[in-house]
Amino acid sequence: MLNTQKAVDASVIALNRGMAELQVLVILYDVTYLRQVEQMQLDFVGNVSHELKTPVTAISGFAETLLAGAKDDPKTLDQFLHIIYDESSRLTQLITDILTLSRPDSGQAQAKPVAVADLVAEALKSLQQPIADKQLQVKVAVPQDLTITTVPAKFSQVVRNLLNNAVFYNRQGGVVTVAAKADEKNLHLSVQDTGIGIAENDQERIFERFYRVDKARSRHNGGTGLGLAIVHDMVQQLGGEITLESQLGVGSTFKVTLPLADLPSFYKG
Ligand code: ADP
Repeated sequence: MLNTQKAVDASVIALNRGMAELQVLVILYDVTYLRQVEQMQLDFVGNVSHELKTPVTAISGFAETLLAGAKDDPKTLDQFLHIIYDESSRLTQLITDILTLSRPDSGQAQAKPVAVADLVAEALKSLQQPIADKQLQVKVAVPQDLTITTVPAKFSQVVRNLLNNAVFYNRQGGVVTVAAKADEKNLHLSVQDTGIGIAENDQERIFERFYRVDKARSRHNGGTGLGLAIVHDMVQQLGGEITLESQLGVGSTFKVTLPLADLPSFYKG
């Protein structure tokens, strides 16, 4: 009897010790997570400063050279003013993207029914010029009556950013295909291109903020390196998922799955 009691006491002590160890483990995990978040924030601020510096340095450098006398040559004046204008546009886009990523969701956004075909058509309209310049063929397979109840601004940003990349990273005379369909719960949207493709070792990092396979090419296309990070954030906020299939030199397909109506409770308003 006495022995049984001792065994029970020992088990209780072991259990308590086990619980204490468990608690210590939980706290350690928490600290590691907080450190990771802190490090990510520091990295982001570091990257932001670096990215902002590039256009600012160009703008002040070219303006200074003009003021020092280069403005007297009309050709140089025109050339430098164009550079200053392009760099200011880049700066504006960068600031817009940074604010989109770092602004906490205000919770004000209301979910509404959105016609997917209309939203795709609108996004393509703003890309008319680069599509014509590259002589791209655009194929759209989206049923006219397909609607999704979602946050329009966020969904639109996802579609616009994916289409933007499908155009800019495409080859001359290539094809962009947008397709959408629904099952009973989800919308399945895919944006496919016949462009440069993304190597396997880059694919897992492609949604990171400021990650670019080819910095010079991204810059040339007016990219900020934040487009896919924004897409990833928005898709997550809307309760969906995004995947990528890509082959170097063949092209890429981004596939987005979003709930047709069952949004995170945050947006039901
Ligand atoms: P960026 O402003 O540089 O385009 P993104 O976040 O949109 O930034 O994309 C990150 C990087 O992923 C790009 O710099 C590019 O290297 C690569 N990428 C994105 N979309 C495509 C695509 N459709 N085809 C090939 N590469 C792509």
